[in-house]
Amino acid sequence: MRYSIALIPGDGIGPEVLAPASAVLNAVGALFGHDFQYVELLAGGRALDETGEPLPPETLEAAKQCGAVLLGAVGGAKWDTLPGHLRPERALLGLRAGLGVFANLRPAALLPQLRAACPLKDEVLRAAHPEGKAAFDLLIVRELTGGIYFGEHGRSADGSAAFDIEAYSKEEIERVLRVAYRAAALRRKKVCVVDKANVLESSRLWREVSQEAAQAYQDIETSYLYVDNCAMQLIRAPGQFDVIVTSNLFGDILSDEASVLTGSIGMLASASLGAGARGLYEPIHGSAPDIAGKDRANPLGAILSAALMLRYSFGLEQEAAAVESAVHAVLDAGFRTQDIARRDGGASGESIVGAQAMGAAVLRALEARASRAGA
Ligand code: NAD
Repeated sequence: MRYSIALIPGDGIGPEVLAPASAVLNAVGALFGHDFQYVELLAGGRALDETGEPLPPETLEAAKQCGAVLLGAVGGAKWDTLPGHLRPERALLGLRAGLGVFANLRPAALLPQLRAACPLKDEVLRAAHPEGKAAFDLLIVRELTGGIYFGEHGRSADGSAAFDIEAYSKEEIERVLRVAYRAAALRRKKVCVVDKANVLESSRLWREVSQEAAQAYQDIETSYLYVDNCAMQLIRAPGQFDVIVTSNLFGDILSDEASVLTGSIGMLASASLGAGARGLYEPIHGSAPDIAGKDRANPLGAILSAALMLRYSFGLEQEAAAVESAVHAVLDAGFRTQDIARRDGGASGESIVGAQAMGAAVLRALEARASRAGA
């Protein structure tokens, strides 16, 4: 089958992490008999330099024609002093709004190979894990295009007071809940709705709408937590969570909290989804100017973002799982980029590699797995 993918390498380490990710997709195509067709598009600082705009209209138009968009990262010091509307990061907001992706999915899992990178004690991790393991595997679904970030902002005439309005409609809440339930159906079938319904009227609407929605998903267990309690539970017993769904502001904060528990920012993937199957996929890190051009970036967040694309936009679950298990296999084999290395001079049996070698190791693991499956 044919699938069209827009590739937006962007700036800094963006191209360095997207090259291995697209090589992995090519291997998936060859191994599973799919035809992935790419169109490479300009956005971010490079687009600004070449066209005068961070998100050229032709980029958005071409992205809308594709089944999915895979983005590296945008931004860099060179463009930091430009006014807001010309900043490379403006391309991200334009893509999210233009593609209508209102739900941001951020998986946060502690892989056993990276146990040392998690600041929590074993007993904390085991506390509420369904199998008593010192691990966790959760997914935060954050509403992405509403709430306080998009509400009215303002200052009093003398500037001594300010306000930001948190507003949600029933429809905005319902559609992000649907994404959360669909994701939970593919996982451990648990959804936790996080709000501040004891204080905020907008949260009371979230609570009402989610209680109604839960009736339609009887096969999925729904629970509710206030956001302050959820922040505490994440570091007290992260193993209790499967899918957390919440508003834009709460999701922003909770997903950063969860990411710290997993090790490096270079490992984490994200998917932004709308009403249809098309999605925007990107590692959660930025363009990392401090390591750009040095072959030191961790490409696994980008590779895992490609796996999310296979799963959520193309419905290729088996292929997504194959990419994820290839990533686990290279970590099992001791391959580490510098951000996830133990820094003990190799005493722990780790091989410190760059982005290219890490990408090549994932390819080998994917092919080895396929040849074992075919044997
Ligand atoms: P950053 O994520 O780029 O880097 C933070 C730290 O993490 C740096 O030390 C960096 O070396 C390290 N790091 C990030 N990704 C890594 C990877 N894959 N492998 C190894 N180490 C990695 O955040 P920042 O420094 O705050 O921002 C740099 C630029 O990126 C800014 O212009 C910012 O606006 C932009 N940014 C873009 C996005 C995006 O495109 N989605 C997201 C965040 C920041």
